[in-house]
Amino acid sequence: MKRIGILGSTGSIGTQTLELINNNDNFKVCYLSAYSNVELLINQAKKFNPDAVCIVKNSEFLRLKDGLKNFDIEILSGDTGIENLASRNNIDLLLNALVGYSGMVPTLKALESGVDVALANKESLVVGGSIIQKELSKNNAKLFPVDSEHSAIWQCLIGENKNEINKLILTGSGGPFRKLPLSQFNSITKEQALNHPNWDMGSKITIDSATMMNKGFEIIEAYWLFNLPIDKIKVIIHPQSIIHSMVEFIDGSIKAQLGTPNMTIPINFALNYPNRTFNDSYRFDFLKSKSLTFEEPDFKKFKCIKLAYDALKLGGSYPIVLNVVNDICVDAFLNDKISFIEIPNFIDEAMQNHNSTNLTNIESIFNTISETKKYIKDKLIL
Ligand code: NDP
Ligand code: MG
Repeated sequence: MKRIGILGSTGSIGTQTLELINNNDNFKVCYLSAYSNVELLINQAKKFNPDAVCIVKNSEFLRLKDGLKNFDIEILSGDTGIENLASRNNIDLLLNALVGYSGMVPTLKALESGVDVALANKESLVVGGSIIQKELSKNNAKLFPVDSEHSAIWQCLIGENKNEINKLILTGSGGPFRKLPLSQFNSITKEQALNHPNWDMGSKITIDSATMMNKGFEIIEAYWLFNLPIDKIKVIIHPQSIIHSMVEFIDGSIKAQLGTPNMTIPINFALNYPNRTFNDSYRFDFLKSKSLTFEEPDFKKFKCIKLAYDALKLGGSYPIVLNVVNDICVDAFLNDKISFIEIPNFIDEAMQNHNSTNLTNIESIFNTISETKKYIKDKLIL
């Protein structure tokens, strides 16, 4: 039996994970967490009977405690509660489905404790790639990608020699504004941006998909996961989202992983690795599908992809600035404080005003995060 902890269990990835392991005797859920959705967390805890649960928003602690008063479940709260859970070494796998850069510390804590991490929280690698990679090199614990593109590449690389990779080709749908002229980007509304053509996801990543910062983060995620030079990581637009990504080898051969765009497939792979399990819910039918098409990404319309490449090339603390400013700007856009086109412009400006620091330890990451937070909150008058 696999003992699993799920951080962010009330979100899109978290709930899909629990659906997959519902009634599955191969898994024991050891802990769950939410930010503020106390009702759902209580229901999940009653159903899966974990050893512990954590609510990050401290003001919800008493409601959670009251809701589970008849159950023998440890109740924790705050970021310290999450860190406590992530540091436990009595589990086999942590599924990190937190959203935003706050997911980085739990990833690190679990790896330090020798626990494998199924990683949905790509921001962990964007802000903490260098120290996470250091931890991976000295420890036995591993990262299993959950993000569909990285799961695809992972699956394509099984049995292959890394030195024989010519390039990784990350596919992206292009989001809801692929065909919208740049001249109309200034009138994009929140409702339009939240309406993704192929994927049903949490609101933060849906906005990141609309600006294509999601693809930018995925370039950085691929860089740290697969340890290849930046110029070997390419992006191609594939509007149907059937090919989830590809690897081109030195002999010209290309391997691709395909399937219906549904996150349960990569989640299931990460949960059960190195095995595959039966699931016939999302079969892809070639004969019923429309054609598979490909386009060049437009860096002028989707400046966020270029900003992510720039941040990765500049290195040091630049990817942290990219991530922190993006998180705050997406939140501001969702709260009607800034417009859609201002998101990349604020990030660009913040990167231009940033002096990089060497990320030697976790404190240097925290320092850059808090300096950047202050900078952008002052700018946005938040
Ligand atoms: P959601 O917004 O749907 O869920 C996020 C989860 O994290 C919820 O449980 C939420 O709790 C909790 N949470 C939110 N903020 C905090 C915080 N500050 N501290 C601790 N917990 C917090 O996100 P998704 O499931 O869509 O995405 C999770 C991660 O997976 C992201 O990094 C995303 O980029 C990545 N990903 C998602 C995909 C998808 O299809 N959704 C696809 C590929 C990657 P509460 O419910 O209480 O708010
Ligand atoms: Mg993805």
